[in-house]
Amino acid sequence: MTTPLSGKTALVTGSTSGIGLGIALSLAKAGANLILNGFGDASAVIAEVQQFGGKVGHHPADVSDPAQIADMLAYAEREFGGVDILVNNAGIQHVAAVEDFPVERWDLIIAINLSSVFHATRLSLPGMRAKGWGRIINVASVHGQVGSVGKAAYVAAKHGVIGLTKVVGLETATSNVTCNAICPGWVLTPLVQKQIDDRIATGVDPQQAQHDLLAEKQPSLEFVTPPQLGELVLFLCSEAGSQVRGAAWNIDGGWLAQ
Ligand code: NAD
Repeated sequence: MTTPLSGKTALVTGSTSGIGLGIALSLAKAGANLILNGFGDASAVIAEVQQFGGKVGHHPADVSDPAQIADMLAYAEREFGGVDILVNNAGIQHVAAVEDFPVERWDLIIAINLSSVFHATRLSLPGMRAKGWGRIINVASVHGQVGSVGKAAYVAAKHGVIGLTKVVGLETATSNVTCNAICPGWVLTPLVQKQIDDRIATGVDPQQAQHDLLAEKQPSLEFVTPPQLGELVLFLCSEAGSQVRGAAWNIDGGWLAQ
């Protein structure tokens, strides 16, 4: 097993589930120490990531709150000597038409899916610059590049993440710090299962509901998987990926080729 990231510390927000957990496992397998974050009982997830032998911690910051993000970065500095790889992954969804969209859900989605990326980035960047190496990887979405009905806040936030990624990519362009976004299509996680369950609740057969969800948008008719996203993150952390800067990289079964 090669461990190109040994000695590096990665912070993955929202890594107690789904895509964030998949990315954390790939980074740990490549030798990185891991700071996990997210809601729920983290003990099983910590044990899963610890199997690769690196140092593993969990910070319970609610990333909708800038003060808790600052506390998490202070913990990273104190316990791990800072963050070398920042994966801004935490995100939520809410589906409703614009005129019915609950204002507090709009504010929360913007805070979690967009503003948290700004706060974690501004607080991590000075340490990366001081060490002369860093990687910032923002989990955006195909919805950072195209819209879908009912997803006003999510689509606005993800478009914002891609804009922020471009600016940070430019501001770090002459350094060994890079900033990129990855744009998954459908990945079968709790966030998407909820949207499948909403279809099942209308009387559609579960297999059919899953097929319909894919068929509407994703030409491959297959879900993207968290390990595939983990491998893309490893590439962006590698020397070969060092001139990918400010990019929004699709990994979407063909969604955006249409
Ligand atoms: P998920 O619901 O499985 O996991 C979300 C994670 O974020 C969990 O660990 C949760 O505890 C954490 N989280 C939620 N709110 C938080 C908060 N306020 N503070 C800290 N942690 C919080 O979702 P997922 O599908 O794995 O989504 C992860 C990211 O991938 C999101 O940014 C999402 O927008 C993006 N994404 C998902 C898909 C997909 O099809 N699942 C596609 C494209 C992009």
